[in-house]
Amino acid sequence: MSGTSGLSGLSAAVGPVTFKAACPDCRARFELAAGALRLAIGGTRRTTFYSFVCPECGRSVRKPAGDRIVELLTGGGVSTLRSL
Ligand SMILES: [Zn+2]
Repeated sequence: MSGTSGLSGLSAAVGPVTFKAACPDCRARFELAAGALRLAIGGTRRTTFYSFVCPECGRSVRKPAGDRIVELLTGGGVSTLRSL
């Protein structure tokens, strides 16, 4: 937490967007670019999730995505798959 600007509210997405994520397996914490994430939107909450590959251990991680996360990821340019 550093470098707060005088601007308040939302910041425009000018540069590459990154998302903070953590690996449940090796517990590494890292930031992922939008291109490293995938979002799957299904008909139910159970089939709506995002996934990424942990850069530390290489494990493929899948986590449920709530409405807010879906909004965040799609707004950040994460490629979205629609599944049934
Ligand atoms: Zn890991």
